[in-house]
Amino acid sequence: GLQMWDVNGKSYYDLISGISVSGIGHRHPKVIEAIHQQTEKYLHLMVYGEYIQSPQVQYAKALAAALPPQLNCSYFVNSGSEAIEGALKLAKRVTGRSKIFAFKNAYHGSSHGALSLMSDEYFTNAYRPLLPDIEFLEWNTFDDLKRIDNHTACVVTEVVRAEAGAITADKNFLKALQKQCNDHGALLICDEIQTGFGRTGPLFGFMDYEIIPDVLCLGKGMAGGMPMGAFIASKENMNYFSNNPVLGHITTFGGHPVMCAAAMATLKIVQELNGADVAGKEKLFRSLLVHKHIKGITGKGLLLAVEFENTSINKAIIKKCIEAGVIVDWFLFTESKMRIAPPLVITNQVIYETCAVILKAIDETLN
Ligand code: PMP
Repeated sequence: GLQMWDVNGKSYYDLISGISVSGIGHRHPKVIEAIHQQTEKYLHLMVYGEYIQSPQVQYAKALAAALPPQLNCSYFVNSGSEAIEGALKLAKRVTGRSKIFAFKNAYHGSSHGALSLMSDEYFTNAYRPLLPDIEFLEWNTFDDLKRIDNHTACVVTEVVRAEAGAITADKNFLKALQKQCNDHGALLICDEIQTGFGRTGPLFGFMDYEIIPDVLCLGKGMAGGMPMGAFIASKENMNYFSNNPVLGHITTFGGHPVMCAAAMATLKIVQELNGADVAGKEKLFRSLLVHKHIKGITGKGLLLAVEFENTSINKAIIKKCIEAGVIVDWFLFTESKMRIAPPLVITNQVIYETCAVILKAIDETLN
């Protein structure tokens, strides 16, 4: 569930899911059971793809069944960053191009390629040189889309921007982005590492926006708390990794059978939750978190951001919430906003309780 305990036995509600990981709560019994069953059979056997292993195939099949037909080929990796790396490499292979666009103030991971997609010099400067040929677009700005041209390999986007501070997309903007990519032969890569597995409502966030990405990147909430990521594309495009050179992306532990078993159980649980009334829970949070010092709430589903006047006020309130047993957090690029991203299984009762704690923390901080 939502509860965690510290070394002294003090109890906390996890209102951020360990940053969008524990979407189905901590230690879901069905995930634990799936892990046990797999550990009774075998752990690592061979690097990914050399031999067919049933947990990988079964999970890939279940994902393909849940996705539009062109997203039928999954490459399993170990983290979100590696999913982004694989997607960038695939876009270069499919298009024969190198220019990459990302959006300003997005976080896509910490490895060299993923870090290159970060627009903020503060985070990148110490690690230069990074990937060349990367440019940044302004979110929800239609005019900027014209910069995507016939030299573009791909555009990396989120559908609800996480670390920018839970910023939603204009549906027409995402549709125009997909069209511009299609018209110029560039791949649209959707980073759903935070928004996947029901966090914004549908199984994957893009499903609410009438777009279908060419590559879907997953991670975090994928395997019920175990480390796993994936990039998913069409078989036709993924085949580029098979030749010139062969072994276009290699991973030793990607597709680990225990992770795949945990991920399979997680997917079934998320599907059974059938949306988990995420929209209703969002509504309840929005109706309860009303205070003269709250400037607004942004986001979608259970990826929400509560905005305060400035960073220091936000951080002081967060500290009080944690002391009172409610774990909240800020966002990498918007430190004046408090992150609310609880497990989807949160009950209305716990929403009432935790919102009361947050409101009390605001009063105590600002009075
Ligand atoms: N993309 C997004 C949107 C993320 O939030 C993160 C992690 N915070 C990543 C990619 C990178 O994932 P990982 O930390 O698993 O490499």
